[in-house]
Amino acid sequence: MTYRLPEEVEALRRAVQELAETRIRPRAAEVDREGAFPWDYVQWLREHDLFALGIPEEYGGLGAGLLALAVATEELSRVDAVAGLLVAVQELGTLPIILAGTEEQKRRFLPRCASGEWLAAFGLTEPEAGSDAAGTRTRAVREGDHYVLNGLKHFVTNAGVAGVYVVFASTDPQRGAKGITAFIVEADTPGFSIGRLQHKMGIRGSTTGELVFRDARVPATNRLGEEGEGFKIAMATLDRTRTNIAAQAVGIAQGALDLALEYAKGRRQFGQPIAEFQGIQFMLADMAMQTEAARQLLYRACARLDEEETTLRRLPAEASRLSAMAKAFASDVAMKVTTDAVQILGGYGYMVDYPAERMMRDAKITQIYEGTNQIQRLVIARSLLDG
Ligand SMILES: Cc1cc2nc3c(=O)[nH]c(=O)nc-3n(C[C@H](O)[C@H](O)[C@H](O)COP(=O)(O)OP(=O)(O)OC[C@H]3O[C@@H](n4cnc5c(N)ncnc54)[C@H](O)[C@@H]3O)c2cc1C
Repeated sequence: MTYRLPEEVEALRRAVQELAETRIRPRAAEVDREGAFPWDYVQWLREHDLFALGIPEEYGGLGAGLLALAVATEELSRVDAVAGLLVAVQELGTLPIILAGTEEQKRRFLPRCASGEWLAAFGLTEPEAGSDAAGTRTRAVREGDHYVLNGLKHFVTNAGVAGVYVVFASTDPQRGAKGITAFIVEADTPGFSIGRLQHKMGIRGSTTGELVFRDARVPATNRLGEEGEGFKIAMATLDRTRTNIAAQAVGIAQGALDLALEYAKGRRQFGQPIAEFQGIQFMLADMAMQTEAARQLLYRACARLDEEETTLRRLPAEASRLSAMAKAFASDVAMKVTTDAVQILGGYGYMVDYPAERMMRDAKITQIYEGTNQIQRLVIARSLLDG
Protein backbone atom coordinates (compact mmCIF):
# COMPACT_ATOMS: atom_id res chain seq x y z
CA MET A 1 0.00 0.00 0.00
CA THR A 2 1.40 3.43 -0.82
CA TYR A 3 0.31 6.72 0.63
CA ARG A 4 -0.85 9.92 -0.83
CA LEU A 5 -0.89 12.18 2.20
CA PRO A 6 -3.97 14.29 2.84
CA GLU A 7 -3.68 17.82 1.41
CA GLU A 8 -3.77 19.40 4.89
CA VAL A 9 -0.76 17.31 5.90
CA GLU A 10 1.15 18.38 2.77
CA ALA A 11 0.23 22.00 3.52
CA LEU A 12 1.58 21.53 7.04
CA ARG A 13 4.78 20.08 5.54
CA ARG A 14 5.26 23.15 3.36
CA ALA A 15 4.71 25.53 6.28
CA VAL A 16 7.14 23.61 8.51
CA GLN A 17 9.71 23.42 5.71
CA GLU A 18 9.64 27.17 5.37
CA LEU A 19 10.10 27.69 9.10
CA ALA A 20 12.90 25.13 9.15
CA GLU A 21 14.76 26.61 6.20
CA THR A 22 14.42 30.29 7.10
CA ARG A 23 14.75 30.28 10.89
CA ILE A 24 16.16 26.99 12.16
CA ARG A 25 18.78 26.08 9.56
CA PRO A 26 20.85 29.23 10.19
CA ARG A 27 20.90 28.47 13.94
CA ALA A 28 21.44 24.68 13.97
CA ALA A 29 25.26 24.56 14.06
CA GLU A 30 25.41 27.21 16.79
CA VAL A 31 22.84 25.39 18.96
CA ASP A 32 24.91 22.22 18.64
CA ARG A 33 28.20 23.97 19.37
CA GLU A 34 26.93 25.88 22.39
CA GLY A 35 24.74 23.08 23.74
CA ALA A 36 22.35 25.69 25.12
CA PHE A 37 18.60 25.14 25.10
CA PRO A 38 17.14 27.03 22.08
CA TRP A 39 14.30 29.11 23.49
CA ASP A 40 14.10 30.88 20.13
CA TYR A 41 13.07 27.54 18.54
CA VAL A 42 10.36 27.21 21.19
CA GLN A 43 9.06 30.66 20.33
CA TRP A 44 8.95 29.86 16.59
CA LEU A 45 7.19 26.54 17.21
CA ARG A 46 4.66 28.37 19.39
CA GLU A 47 4.04 30.94 16.66
CA HIS A 48 3.40 28.12 14.17
CA ASP A 49 1.09 26.25 16.57
CA LEU A 50 3.27 23.16 16.33
CA PHE A 51 2.92 22.25 20.03
CA ALA A 52 -0.83 22.02 19.48
CA LEU A 53 -0.68 19.29 16.83
CA GLY A 54 -1.21 16.27 19.09
CA ILE A 55 -3.65 17.83 21.55
CA PRO A 56 -7.42 17.48 21.01
CA GLU A 57 -9.29 20.55 19.82
CA GLU A 58 -11.49 20.74 22.94
CA TYR A 59 -8.32 21.40 24.97
CA GLY A 60 -6.87 24.10 22.74
CA GLY A 61 -5.06 21.80 20.34
CA LEU A 62 -5.38 20.93 16.68
CA GLY A 63 -6.12 17.20 17.08
CA ALA A 64 -4.12 16.63 13.93
CA GLY A 65 -3.09 13.01 14.57
CA LEU A 66 0.17 11.08 14.50
CA LEU A 67 0.69 11.33 10.74
CA ALA A 68 0.65 15.13 10.86
CA LEU A 69 2.91 15.11 13.90
CA ALA A 70 5.32 12.81 12.10
CA VAL A 71 5.51 15.06 9.06
CA ALA A 72 6.19 18.13 11.23
CA THR A 73 8.84 16.27 13.25
CA GLU A 74 10.41 14.94 10.04
CA GLU A 75 10.70 18.35 8.40
CA LEU A 76 12.13 20.01 11.50
CA SER A 77 14.62 17.17 12.03
CA ARG A 78 15.77 17.38 8.43
CA VAL A 79 17.35 20.67 9.45
CA ASP A 80 17.93 20.15 13.18
CA ALA A 81 16.98 17.05 15.20
CA VAL A 82 16.71 19.23 18.31
CA ALA A 83 13.80 21.14 16.77
CA GLY A 84 12.03 17.90 15.83
CA LEU A 85 12.56 16.60 19.35
CA LEU A 86 10.78 19.60 20.87
CA VAL A 87 7.60 18.67 19.02
CA ALA A 88 8.04 14.95 19.70
CA VAL A 89 8.54 15.40 23.45
CA GLN A 90 5.53 17.69 23.77
CA GLU A 91 3.52 14.71 22.54
CA LEU A 92 5.38 12.29 24.84
CA GLY A 93 4.68 14.44 27.89
CA THR A 94 1.05 15.24 27.11
CA LEU A 95 -0.24 11.96 25.69
CA PRO A 96 -0.42 10.30 29.15
CA ILE A 97 -2.74 13.13 30.22
CA ILE A 98 -4.82 12.73 27.06
CA LEU A 99 -4.99 8.97 27.57
CA ALA A 100 -5.63 8.82 31.30
CA GLY A 101 -6.38 12.29 32.65
CA THR A 102 -9.63 13.36 34.24
CA GLU A 103 -11.63 16.12 32.58
CA GLU A 104 -10.35 18.55 35.22
CA GLN A 105 -6.70 17.53 34.61
CA LYS A 106 -7.10 17.88 30.86
CA ARG A 107 -8.58 21.35 31.22
CA ARG A 108 -5.89 22.42 33.68
CA PHE A 109 -2.82 21.18 31.79
CA LEU A 110 -3.45 20.61 28.09
CA PRO A 111 -4.30 24.14 26.85
CA ARG A 112 -1.05 25.54 28.29
CA CYS A 113 0.89 22.72 26.64
CA ALA A 114 -0.97 23.23 23.33
CA SER A 115 0.05 26.89 23.24
CA GLY A 116 3.60 25.98 24.19
CA GLU A 117 3.46 28.17 27.29
CA TRP A 118 4.45 24.98 29.14
CA LEU A 119 6.81 22.43 27.73
CA ALA A 120 6.06 18.88 28.84
CA ALA A 121 8.36 16.03 29.89
CA PHE A 122 8.06 12.31 30.57
CA GLY A 123 10.02 10.82 33.46
CA LEU A 124 10.16 7.06 33.39
CA THR A 125 13.84 6.05 33.22
CA GLU A 126 15.92 5.62 36.38
CA PRO A 127 19.57 4.67 36.88
CA GLU A 128 18.55 1.08 37.72
CA ALA A 129 15.45 0.93 35.53
CA GLY A 130 16.12 1.61 31.85
CA SER A 131 14.85 -0.96 29.37
CA ASP A 132 13.33 -2.76 32.34
CA ALA A 133 11.08 0.13 33.32
CA ALA A 134 9.02 -2.15 35.57
CA GLY A 135 11.97 -1.94 37.97
CA THR A 136 11.00 1.64 38.94
CA ARG A 137 12.29 2.45 42.42
CA THR A 138 10.95 5.97 42.90
CA ARG A 139 8.35 5.65 45.64
CA ALA A 140 5.05 7.42 46.11
CA VAL A 141 3.28 7.12 49.46
CA ARG A 142 -0.18 8.51 50.03
CA GLU A 143 -0.50 10.94 52.95
CA GLY A 144 -3.98 12.42 53.17
CA ASP A 145 -4.72 14.43 50.06
CA HIS A 146 -1.11 14.25 48.82
CA TYR A 147 1.39 11.67 47.62
CA VAL A 148 4.94 11.98 48.92
CA LEU A 149 7.49 11.08 46.24
CA ASN A 150 11.10 10.06 46.88
CA GLY A 151 13.63 8.92 44.29
CA LEU A 152 15.49 9.87 41.15
CA LYS A 153 14.65 9.86 37.46
CA HIS A 154 17.42 10.37 34.95
CA PHE A 155 17.96 10.94 31.21
CA VAL A 156 14.75 12.99 31.09
CA THR A 157 14.38 15.19 28.00
CA ASN A 158 13.28 18.78 28.74
CA ALA A 159 14.51 18.48 32.36
CA GLY A 160 14.68 21.99 33.76
CA VAL A 161 12.78 23.64 30.92
CA ALA A 162 9.43 21.85 31.22
CA GLY A 163 6.50 23.31 33.14
CA VAL A 164 4.89 19.93 33.64
CA TYR A 165 6.37 16.44 34.08
CA VAL A 166 4.55 13.14 33.91
CA VAL A 167 6.40 10.91 36.36
CA PHE A 168 6.09 7.23 37.19
CA ALA A 169 6.55 6.00 40.75
CA SER A 170 5.79 2.85 42.66
CA THR A 171 2.89 2.98 45.08
CA ASP A 172 3.18 -0.75 45.78
CA PRO A 173 6.67 -2.23 45.25
CA GLN A 174 5.43 -5.77 45.95
CA ARG A 175 3.34 -5.65 42.79
CA GLY A 176 6.17 -4.73 40.37
CA ALA A 177 4.82 -3.24 37.13
CA LYS A 178 1.28 -3.38 38.53
CA GLY A 179 2.35 -1.24 41.48
CA ILE A 180 3.48 1.71 39.35
CA THR A 181 1.37 4.88 39.34
CA ALA A 182 1.61 7.97 37.11
CA PHE A 183 1.63 11.53 38.43
CA ILE A 184 1.55 15.00 36.93
CA VAL A 185 4.31 16.92 38.67
CA GLU A 186 4.32 20.69 38.26
CA ALA A 187 7.73 22.32 38.05
CA ASP A 188 7.24 24.28 41.29
CA THR A 189 6.20 21.26 43.39
CA PRO A 190 7.83 21.50 46.86
CA GLY A 191 10.50 18.80 47.25
CA PHE A 192 10.98 18.42 43.49
CA SER A 193 14.17 19.71 41.87
CA ILE A 194 16.33 19.25 38.80
CA GLY A 195 19.61 17.44 39.40
CA ARG A 196 22.51 17.04 37.01
CA LEU A 197 22.04 17.89 33.34
CA GLN A 198 23.91 15.39 31.17
CA HIS A 199 26.45 16.33 28.49
CA LYS A 200 25.76 14.40 25.32
CA MET A 201 27.16 13.17 22.01
CA GLY A 202 24.30 14.64 19.99
CA ILE A 203 21.01 16.57 20.23
CA ARG A 204 23.15 18.88 22.33
CA GLY A 205 20.64 21.75 22.42
CA SER A 206 18.06 19.52 24.09
CA THR A 207 18.28 19.24 27.87
CA THR A 208 18.59 15.74 29.34
CA GLY A 209 18.74 15.46 33.08
CA GLU A 210 17.76 14.19 36.48
CA LEU A 211 14.49 14.73 38.32
CA VAL A 212 15.09 14.62 42.07
CA PHE A 213 12.28 13.89 44.52
CA ARG A 214 12.93 14.51 48.22
CA ASP A 215 9.65 14.26 50.07
CA ALA A 216 8.02 15.95 47.08
CA ARG A 217 4.38 16.63 47.83
CA VAL A 218 2.18 15.97 44.81
CA PRO A 219 -1.56 16.62 45.27
CA ALA A 220 -3.66 13.46 44.95
CA THR A 221 -5.65 15.35 42.31
CA ASN A 222 -2.51 15.12 40.13
CA ARG A 223 -2.54 11.32 40.09
CA LEU A 224 -3.09 10.10 36.54
CA GLY A 225 -5.47 7.19 36.32
CA GLU A 226 -5.79 4.72 39.17
CA GLU A 227 -3.06 3.51 41.48
CA GLY A 228 -1.21 0.71 39.67
CA GLU A 229 -2.16 1.93 36.19
CA GLY A 230 1.10 3.80 35.56
CA PHE A 231 2.94 1.11 33.62
CA LYS A 232 -0.04 0.63 31.36
CA ILE A 233 -0.18 4.41 30.76
CA ALA A 234 3.55 4.53 29.98
CA MET A 235 3.37 1.65 27.52
CA ALA A 236 0.21 2.97 25.82
CA THR A 237 2.02 6.28 25.38
CA LEU A 238 5.26 4.84 24.03
CA ASP A 239 3.40 2.52 21.65
CA ARG A 240 2.19 5.65 19.88
CA THR A 241 4.96 8.20 20.40
CA ARG A 242 7.77 6.06 19.05
CA THR A 243 6.52 6.97 15.58
CA ASN A 244 7.75 10.49 16.38
CA ILE A 245 11.24 9.12 16.94
CA ALA A 246 10.96 7.28 13.63
CA ALA A 247 9.98 10.63 12.09
CA GLN A 248 12.96 12.34 13.67
CA ALA A 249 15.15 9.60 12.19
CA VAL A 250 13.64 9.92 8.70
CA GLY A 251 14.18 13.67 8.82
CA ILE A 252 17.82 13.31 9.88
CA ALA A 253 18.42 10.74 7.11
CA GLN A 254 16.81 12.99 4.49
CA GLY A 255 18.88 15.96 5.64
CA ALA A 256 22.06 13.89 5.32
CA LEU A 257 21.07 12.62 1.87
CA ASP A 258 20.33 16.19 0.66
CA LEU A 259 23.73 17.30 1.89
CA ALA A 260 25.65 14.35 0.41
CA LEU A 261 23.92 14.80 -2.95
CA GLU A 262 24.78 18.49 -3.18
CA TYR A 263 28.33 17.89 -2.08
CA ALA A 264 28.88 15.01 -4.53
CA LYS A 265 27.77 17.20 -7.43
CA GLY A 266 30.15 20.00 -6.49
CA ARG A 267 33.28 18.19 -5.28
CA ARG A 268 35.74 17.39 -8.06
CA GLN A 269 38.46 14.75 -7.89
CA PHE A 270 40.36 13.07 -10.73
CA GLY A 271 39.03 15.84 -13.01
CA GLN A 272 35.31 15.21 -12.48
CA PRO A 273 32.56 15.60 -9.87
CA ILE A 274 32.69 12.68 -7.44
CA ALA A 275 28.94 12.17 -8.22
CA GLU A 276 30.07 10.73 -11.55
CA PHE A 277 31.86 7.84 -9.87
CA GLN A 278 29.65 4.79 -9.76
CA GLY A 279 30.91 3.96 -6.27
CA ILE A 280 29.39 7.23 -5.01
CA GLN A 281 26.23 6.83 -7.13
CA PHE A 282 25.53 3.43 -5.59
CA MET A 283 25.94 4.86 -2.10
CA LEU A 284 23.53 7.71 -2.92
CA ALA A 285 21.04 5.25 -4.43
CA ASP A 286 21.14 3.06 -1.32
CA MET A 287 20.74 6.09 0.95
CA ALA A 288 17.70 7.26 -1.03
CA MET A 289 16.12 3.77 -1.10
CA GLN A 290 16.57 3.24 2.60
CA THR A 291 15.27 6.69 3.53
CA GLU A 292 12.19 6.31 1.35
CA ALA A 293 11.49 2.82 2.70
CA ALA A 294 11.73 4.15 6.25
CA ARG A 295 9.41 7.04 5.39
CA GLN A 296 6.78 4.75 3.89
CA LEU A 297 6.89 2.41 6.88
CA LEU A 298 6.56 5.43 9.18
CA TYR A 299 3.54 6.82 7.31
CA ARG A 300 1.95 3.38 7.23
CA ALA A 301 2.42 2.99 10.99
CA CYS A 302 1.01 6.46 11.69
CA ALA A 303 -1.98 5.96 9.42
CA ARG A 304 -2.68 2.63 11.16
CA LEU A 305 -2.35 4.17 14.63
CA ASP A 306 -4.56 7.11 13.64
CA GLU A 307 -7.34 4.58 12.95
CA GLU A 308 -7.36 3.67 16.65
CA GLU A 309 -9.08 5.62 19.41
CA THR A 310 -6.74 7.49 21.74
CA THR A 311 -7.65 5.52 24.84
CA LEU A 312 -5.84 3.32 27.32
CA ARG A 313 -7.24 0.22 25.65
CA ARG A 314 -4.43 -1.99 24.39
CA LEU A 315 -3.62 -1.42 20.72
CA PRO A 316 -4.15 -4.27 18.29
CA ALA A 317 -0.89 -6.23 17.95
CA GLU A 318 -0.50 -5.18 14.32
CA ALA A 319 -0.61 -1.46 15.21
CA SER A 320 1.98 -1.59 17.98
CA ARG A 321 4.15 -3.89 15.83
CA LEU A 322 4.13 -1.35 12.99
CA SER A 323 5.06 1.41 15.41
CA ALA A 324 8.03 -0.60 16.75
CA MET A 325 9.06 -1.57 13.21
CA ALA A 326 9.01 2.05 12.04
CA LYS A 327 11.09 3.20 15.01
CA ALA A 328 13.72 0.47 14.74
CA PHE A 329 13.95 0.54 10.95
CA ALA A 330 14.03 4.32 10.54
CA SER A 331 16.62 4.83 13.26
CA ASP A 332 18.89 2.12 11.84
CA VAL A 333 18.51 3.81 8.45
CA ALA A 334 19.33 7.22 9.93
CA MET A 335 22.53 5.83 11.45
CA LYS A 336 23.57 4.17 8.18
CA VAL A 337 22.67 7.10 5.93
CA THR A 338 24.38 9.72 8.10
CA THR A 339 27.51 7.57 8.33
CA ASP A 340 27.51 7.26 4.54
CA ALA A 341 27.03 11.02 4.20
CA VAL A 342 30.15 11.60 6.30
CA GLN A 343 31.97 9.16 3.99
CA ILE A 344 30.82 10.94 0.83
CA LEU A 345 32.08 14.24 2.22
CA GLY A 346 35.44 12.59 2.91
CA GLY A 347 37.63 14.53 5.35
CA TYR A 348 35.21 17.47 5.27
CA GLY A 349 32.51 15.12 6.56
CA TYR A 350 34.55 14.68 9.71
CA MET A 351 34.85 18.42 10.29
CA VAL A 352 32.37 20.56 12.16
CA ASP A 353 32.31 23.02 9.23
CA TYR A 354 29.72 20.75 7.57
CA PRO A 355 26.61 19.39 9.30
CA ALA A 356 27.25 15.73 8.33
CA GLU A 357 29.05 14.85 11.57
CA ARG A 358 26.31 16.55 13.66
CA MET A 359 23.67 14.56 11.82
CA MET A 360 25.60 11.34 12.49
CA ARG A 361 25.85 12.16 16.20
CA ASP A 362 22.17 13.11 16.34
CA ALA A 363 21.10 9.95 14.49
CA LYS A 364 22.61 7.71 17.16
CA ILE A 365 20.11 8.68 19.84
CA THR A 366 17.17 7.55 17.72
CA GLN A 367 18.38 3.95 18.10
CA ILE A 368 18.40 4.33 21.89
CA TYR A 369 15.58 6.39 23.35
CA GLU A 370 11.89 5.54 23.67
CA GLY A 371 12.98 1.92 23.86
CA THR A 372 16.26 0.74 22.34
CA ASN A 373 16.17 -1.04 19.01
CA GLN A 374 16.84 -4.33 20.80
CA ILE A 375 13.65 -3.75 22.78
CA GLN A 376 11.75 -2.84 19.58
CA ARG A 377 12.86 -6.13 18.09
CA LEU A 378 11.61 -7.93 21.19
CA VAL A 379 8.23 -6.19 20.80
CA ILE A 380 8.07 -7.14 17.11
CA ALA A 381 9.11 -10.75 17.69
CA ARG A 382 6.74 -11.25 20.62
CA SER A 383 3.83 -9.86 18.66
CA LEU A 384 4.68 -12.17 15.74
CA LEU A 385 5.02 -15.21 17.96
CA ASP A 386 1.91 -14.47 20.05
CA GLY A 387 -0.18 -13.68 16.98
C1 LIG B 1 19.35 11.75 25.25
C2 LIG B 1 18.38 10.86 25.95
C3 LIG B 1 17.10 11.32 26.19
C4 LIG B 1 16.19 10.52 26.89
N1 LIG B 1 14.95 11.01 27.19
C5 LIG B 1 14.14 10.30 28.02
C6 LIG B 1 12.92 10.84 28.50
O1 LIG B 1 12.51 11.96 28.13
N2 LIG B 1 12.20 10.13 29.40
C7 LIG B 1 12.59 8.91 29.84
O2 LIG B 1 11.90 8.33 30.67
N3 LIG B 1 13.73 8.34 29.37
C8 LIG B 1 14.52 9.00 28.49
N4 LIG B 1 15.69 8.46 28.03
C9 LIG B 1 16.07 7.13 28.49
C10 LIG B 1 16.05 6.07 27.41
O3 LIG B 1 14.74 5.75 27.05
C11 LIG B 1 16.87 4.88 27.95
O4 LIG B 1 18.23 5.28 27.92
C12 LIG B 1 16.66 3.61 27.15
O5 LIG B 1 15.36 3.14 27.32
C13 LIG B 1 17.65 2.51 27.55
O6 LIG B 1 17.78 2.38 28.92
P1 LIG B 1 19.25 2.35 29.54
O7 LIG B 1 19.96 3.56 29.07
O8 LIG B 1 19.13 2.17 31.01
O9 LIG B 1 19.95 1.10 28.89
P2 LIG B 1 19.83 -0.44 29.37
O10 LIG B 1 18.40 -0.80 29.57
O11 LIG B 1 20.77 -0.67 30.49
O12 LIG B 1 20.37 -1.18 28.08
C14 LIG B 1 21.75 -1.36 27.81
C15 LIG B 1 21.86 -2.25 26.55
O13 LIG B 1 21.27 -3.53 26.83
C16 LIG B 1 20.26 -3.80 25.86
N5 LIG B 1 19.19 -4.57 26.47
C17 LIG B 1 18.51 -4.30 27.62
N6 LIG B 1 17.57 -5.24 27.85
C18 LIG B 1 17.64 -6.11 26.80
C19 LIG B 1 16.92 -7.30 26.44
N7 LIG B 1 15.91 -7.74 27.17
N8 LIG B 1 17.27 -7.92 25.29
C20 LIG B 1 18.29 -7.46 24.51
N9 LIG B 1 19.00 -6.35 24.81
C21 LIG B 1 18.67 -5.68 25.93
C22 LIG B 1 19.78 -2.45 25.38
O14 LIG B 1 19.18 -2.54 24.10
C23 LIG B 1 21.10 -1.67 25.37
O15 LIG B 1 21.79 -1.95 24.17
C24 LIG B 1 16.59 9.23 27.32
C25 LIG B 1 17.88 8.77 27.04
C26 LIG B 1 18.77 9.57 26.39
C27 LIG B 1 20.15 9.03 26.14
